[in-house]
Amino acid sequence: MHLLLVEDDERLGRVLKRLLEEDRHVVDVATDGQSGLDFAESEGIEIVILDVGLPDISGLEVARRLRKRGTQAAILMLTARDTVNDRVTGLDAGADDYLVKPFAFEELSARIRALARRTEPGPRRADPRLEVGPIALDEAGRRVTVDGRPIDLSPREFSLLECLLRHPGQTLTRDQLLDQAWPYSAAVTPNAVDAYVHYLRTKLGTAGSRVETIRGVGYRLSDA
Ligand code: CA
Repeated sequence: MHLLLVEDDERLGRVLKRLLEEDRHVVDVATDGQSGLDFAESEGIEIVILDVGLPDISGLEVARRLRKRGTQAAILMLTARDTVNDRVTGLDAGADDYLVKPFAFEELSARIRALARRTEPGPRRADPRLEVGPIALDEAGRRVTVDGRPIDLSPREFSLLECLLRHPGQTLTRDQLLDQAWPYSAAVTPNAVDAYVHYLRTKLGTAGSRVETIRGVGYRLSDA
């Protein structure tokens, strides 16, 4: 899943991001309400994990504004206070679920799985299985196989491959791949794409040669 974590506690944000990435999610982090709203506009965000206590706009207000804009992403609120009032306010504001701090990571992980099951299948997930030649990617299960053998990919490598598999035979520019695989990270340069394509090719083994370099432009996944 593509997750957006809006959390102003930088230490907690770092820890959660790392743990969520170990769960095979792609995670981007915003540290205040306004940048959370901006990031949430990016296409592909499936779940917003939203802290209630933020320095500028409260998480409740962020949720209200997201719903007002018609955001499809599920919203999971993180609140430090466990009172009936806060829960009701959070759910009224448009949250799908909430979690009271402090929480065990396993609890967050389970809530995300539950939300993922509840989320309406959007156009991005209409076809959960992508296949080109020996390479198969199961989006729902976050699994990649080559000739039926499972391949262990990092979340970014997974997103990059997903993007290539969605456009077989088409040349994708580095910028297009950046937008798809790093949608909310402004600091990433096109060189990162080259590095990750290299990792991806290595992990795909002989099937890696299908990822062709189009000199001066970008990459193409050969479907021939
Ligand atoms: Ca906070």
